[in-house]
Amino acid sequence: MAKENKAVITLFGATGDLAQRKLYPSLFNLYQKGYLAEHFALLGTSRRPVSDEEFQAMVEKSISGIDEVQAGNAQAFAKHFFYQSHDVTKPEHYEVLKERLEKLDEQFETEGNRLFYMSMAPQFFGTIALNLKKQALLTDDGFNRLVIEKPFGRDFASAKALNDELSQTFKEDQIFRIDHYLGKEMIQNIEALRFGNTIIESLWNNRYIDNIQVTLSEKLGVEERAGYYDHSGALRDMVQNHIMQVVAQLAMEQPVAFTDSDVRVEKIKALRSLRLYTPSEAASNFVRGQYDAGADNPDYRHEDGVDPQSNTETFVAAKLMFDNYRWSGVPFYVRTGKKLADKFTRIDVVFRKPLIDIFANPRMASEQSLKSNVLTIYVEPQSGFALRVNAKTAGQGFQTEPVDLEYMQNDSSKKEAPEPYERLFHDALEGNHTNFASWSEIAYAWKFVDVVRKLWDIEEPQFPNYTPGTMGPAASDELLARDGRAWVYNLNH
Ligand code: NAD
Repeated sequence: MAKENKAVITLFGATGDLAQRKLYPSLFNLYQKGYLAEHFALLGTSRRPVSDEEFQAMVEKSISGIDEVQAGNAQAFAKHFFYQSHDVTKPEHYEVLKERLEKLDEQFETEGNRLFYMSMAPQFFGTIALNLKKQALLTDDGFNRLVIEKPFGRDFASAKALNDELSQTFKEDQIFRIDHYLGKEMIQNIEALRFGNTIIESLWNNRYIDNIQVTLSEKLGVEERAGYYDHSGALRDMVQNHIMQVVAQLAMEQPVAFTDSDVRVEKIKALRSLRLYTPSEAASNFVRGQYDAGADNPDYRHEDGVDPQSNTETFVAAKLMFDNYRWSGVPFYVRTGKKLADKFTRIDVVFRKPLIDIFANPRMASEQSLKSNVLTIYVEPQSGFALRVNAKTAGQGFQTEPVDLEYMQNDSSKKEAPEPYERLFHDALEGNHTNFASWSEIAYAWKFVDVVRKLWDIEEPQFPNYTPGTMGPAASDELLARDGRAWVYNLNH
């Protein structure tokens, strides 16, 4: 039985793309499941004037694509939505907001619980938080929480400045920094797989693991996000946040208990032991790329909205090292990029080969060699995992071949899995931080990435350097080849 969450949600950026595509459908799913019921309201704000009725119609439209809407639910849901035209930079506008929030609190009996969701351009995040405090929009009797969208800063200095601003109004345990990768089913499954299985966790260290590979691959180019992307690039857009969060979950020690504070402690400890590169180490352990023209696209520099001289990277590959007892000597190879072969996210954990390959005994005239065991976690589009093991090939003689023990979520369990935003909204309403990034994690991630960024900002790259439809520049393969390794996923697989 779902437990109802009571709150008034204030959404900054209520007419925006994210709100309409993701946030309203996610809230509606929570409503259909009973996590939101009678005692919630959402006050949407943005600059343009919109009436409550027009806003409710916008919300209904945004959920019209959802299957299995229970009769009358869409209208009943939309009746919880209200709108206030609001310029976030004008202090006097917050007074109007305050009055409306108090009324909604009374009308929907939300017990003073307030959730403020910032879904707009990041330069406004600090201003909004300061005004919420100055105009006293936080309540004394219920909870006050802030949910904040990415990006969280452009480097360590700007992230710290933003965090300092937010901290004047909200304490760390009131801030929920969204990283929607943490809302994905199979990213959460990393913990279940590791800490629920002796056969996996007992091997999860440098004695048995040779290397770990994380790939976040996109098939599309920059599309309509060119203006934003050209000022960001793959390092800031994907590595600093999503990849670092995934890597922290793979590398962390077992938490004392599966609670948000215990998981955070371990992720922070893992990131603290991530080796901070010198500029010359960064140069040899990071690869950047920018896509060339393809059959159906111009090269990156000729995309609409991109500076024709742009040195923004659309691809990054890197080798990360953790200096701790568990991981010493085990490289974590990561890569992400646009216009690659396919759209998918996967993690490949490559185990060491047996110390002695008895099947390669020359007396048995066998030239084959055993393949490494690989645990692959398929994050998307399929959700599941596979364990590659060596088995005897059926038939005369003695040959071995790798076979996959595989589990893939079927359609009905996929349907059960909430969308990342639905899960994260629910977690924030419950006050559960497990799937949000803490300030310390973000700070370590930026410090790690800043070294590379500074280097790349002064050195001229040789762009474009990869063909659309491939897995990035040749240097990405060389990064592993020089260690005698290769990406588990390449175009032949
Ligand atoms: P958007 O440009 O579509 O919407 C921005 C909203 O802010 C609009 O409602 C606009 O009216 C409002 N706004 C702008 N200036 C204002 C002002 N001075 N006062 C009041 N309102 C103002 O942006 P979006 O794509 O919805 O993104 C919102 C946030 O979510 C951003 O931080 C973005 O980085 C993040 N995000 C978006 C996506 C996505 O898929 N769209 C994905 C991940 C993160």
